[in-house]
Amino acid sequence: MVEKRLALVTGAGRGIGRGIALALGQRGWFTVVNYRSNQAAADETVEAVRHAGGAAAGLQADISQDADRRALVETLLDRYGRIDLLVNNAGMAPRQRLDILQTTEASYDEVMATNLKGPFFLTQLAARSMIAGLEANVYREKPMIINIGSISAYTSSPNRPEYCISKAGFGMMTLLFADALAKYGIAVYEIRPGIIETDMTAAVTTKYDALIAGGLTPIQRWGQPEDIGKAVSALADGLFPFSTGEVFNVDGGFHFRRL
Ligand code: NAP
Repeated sequence: MVEKRLALVTGAGRGIGRGIALALGQRGWFTVVNYRSNQAAADETVEAVRHAGGAAAGLQADISQDADRRALVETLLDRYGRIDLLVNNAGMAPRQRLDILQTTEASYDEVMATNLKGPFFLTQLAARSMIAGLEANVYREKPMIINIGSISAYTSSPNRPEYCISKAGFGMMTLLFADALAKYGIAVYEIRPGIIETDMTAAVTTKYDALIAGGLTPIQRWGQPEDIGKAVSALADGLFPFSTGEVFNVDGGFHFRRL
């Protein structure tokens, strides 16, 4: 059984997930850095967390695959005994942005499996283990689940509809698990990042640079992975004990209407 509180952060090798792993590591968490294929990046994250004074270990699993999800949770429970925090961060944009009239079924299936079906069934496995752990008194503090959603849950981008649909469904997934797990004392939150500077947005840098400069967001800058890391840490500290199912917008103010 690991002494420190243990966080499983999916897709933590790069981008936002790395920012979350670093922030949690700095606050004394043991962070399991899950990744799909880029082991070098995951190793760098693990090293960066350790350098910042935290503890971390990498664990490969493709969360879109049932066998991988099961192996991930089983390995983690065997090695460390419990999951204190699951951060559902792993996600993908369509490999190619195609207009809604051209979207392919293959892209739709891939994006939905990664962004919605995978996190849904991973959360189911993790939540079952959390309930069993609570019944066996292995927790000092209540476990928690944090979902990294997107402004795309409510913003129309007809050139990547499968992504928007996955994130809209993900929002309902937050509510459903929050509702079902409240009676166990397991809070479920969603963080909705705005435009964040990562590999995912690298292909549209010029477009977003212009939009931000043109006043798209009241806070006129790109978001950074550390902005999301700070938000996750704040929730993980457990300072919102009478809230669950809550959406926290970390988007420079993108979400509100302006006149
Ligand atoms: P990113 O830079 O493309 O990194 C994605 C990470 O997810 C990588 O570590 C990747 O692993 C991992 N991953 C992808 N598919 C996976 C799978 N099937 N199983 C396990 N890991 C997988 O993306 P990001 O910008 O950091 O995005 C992170 C999350 O934030 C996503 O859910 C995204 O939708 C959301 N988000 C991003 C933005 C933004 O502007 N960037 C805005 C709103 C929401 P490998 O390194 O092994 O490939």
